Amino acid sequence: MRMNRHMGQATRTTKLLLDLGKRTQGGTNTSKRAYLEATVELLNAARAFYVAFFLAHADKLSERVSYFSEKHLEERERALSANELLTWAEFLTVETNEHPDPLRDWNFSRAFPDFPFLYRRAVIKDAIGKVKSYLSNLSNWHHSGKQKGKPGQPGASNHPTLYEGTFSLELDGLDQRESFVRLKIYTGERWAWVNYPVKYSRYFEQRRTELGWEQQSPKLVLRPKHAELHCSQVKAVKARKINESKQDPHLVTVAVDLNVKNLAVITARQDGAIIETVFVRDHGLDQHRYGHLKRIAQKQWLSGKPVKGEHSNRQLWGHVGRMNEEAAHKVSRSIANVCAKYPGCVLLFERLRKIPAKGGSKSRRMNRKRTNQLRGQINQHAKDKAYAQGTVTVEVNPHGTSQYCSRCGARGERFSSRGGKRIQAKWGKLFRCPVCHYEAHADFNASVNVHRSFYREWHWQPRKKPPPKAAKRSGGGDPLSPATGRGEEACGGTPR
Ligand SMILES: [Zn+2]
Repeated sequence: MRMNRHMGQATRTTKLLLDLGKRTQGGTNTSKRAYLEATVELLNAARAFYVAFFLAHADKLSERVSYFSEKHLEERERALSANELLTWAEFLTVETNEHPDPLRDWNFSRAFPDFPFLYRRAVIKDAIGKVKSYLSNLSNWHHSGKQKGKPGQPGASNHPTLYEGTFSLELDGLDQRESFVRLKIYTGERWAWVNYPVKYSRYFEQRRTELGWEQQSPKLVLRPKHAELHCSQVKAVKARKINESKQDPHLVTVAVDLNVKNLAVITARQDGAIIETVFVRDHGLDQHRYGHLKRIAQKQWLSGKPVKGEHSNRQLWGHVGRMNEEAAHKVSRSIANVCAKYPGCVLLFERLRKIPAKGGSKSRRMNRKRTNQLRGQINQHAKDKAYAQGTVTVEVNPHGTSQYCSRCGARGERFSSRGGKRIQAKWGKLFRCPVCHYEAHADFNASVNVHRSFYREWHWQPRKKPPPKAAKRSGGGDPLSPATGRGEEACGGTPR
């Protein structure tokens, strides 16, 4: 059998915290922080210079040049590449010995003396990207004929990209506490190399050196209280196409049902049988988060208005956000680990439904919102992590996965058990089938149904003549919609 594989790219980001701590006390640390601020500010100003320059020479960005296409054996036209635009812009704005007279109104060398050329090239490239996307948005807007929504002028601020030559990571293999980055920074008076200790970890080292991942230029991200390098990596991924996978009679499918107490119920199926089940429980996350949100809601109620900016609330929100992010990474790691056991498997998610945030107290509603957010994060991170391993994700029709019997396909009921008594309840933890008398954990039953939906069994069989109205209501006739372009294009990063 000819293997029809397609190539894609997975990306991920690992954060490296710069140590601006008070360890050495005194002026050094505060000035180190000030240097970073001065650098970002100067780079923003230089970027603003080139954004203005390209806006003033917008015609150059749409200039076409002709070239001979080897592939088509004929003269063709194309736009100027970013490198050609960069060379052209430098020629007009930078003073050199061979070329002492740049445009009088656009003399970058005078406006920004001693500016390192690597940073200059970085800001020129940023400016090209910003102005190009602005012009294309503007042209789309003109064509749309709308009155409102005119695209705003491109801004100039960005997290600076640190290209080779503006930074270096100095690692002491023996004592990682001695690790630091050397950064070319602007002190407010001149450009200089300055060392910044980093909070280096084994985790970072393992990701940095992992086979198959290629380093990209990091970005310097300056936050109110700390500074980080965001180090991204890309990996070329070969994955089987979904249509190809479906031809495999022994295909393994890994299905995930996302819920509240059981954050995820993962089931693997092969040859029609469930071969593995993993319950990922929330270990009190929902309760813990609810407690915090209750406090926030109380404070808001006492003060009579949402106190978004208030210090302690901001800390609580930050804490809740980090809790979710951490849980999302843990759960998605468990999902990717199950996939890793079955090379060539397909990962199945339901198209995400929202658990309605309506009803109940304010803190309950806030908690529901966070739950939905967490489900979205788990879904995204799991797709990214699995894809980096060569596993493609498919999103299946979620209709009825929690209501139908995964054994015989009949409509069943949910119930919970209290003090030995069975109480029928819409959100009951257990599932019971009135036809075949199957009983199971409701989330497990739903997870097994995700496979059924993928294979279009029972309830999920394509209808012969779907009435047009019903087809519309259930969100389109095709229950098998491959995760949008996943695999074809780059996956989003998984910042950590
Ligand atoms: Zn049944």
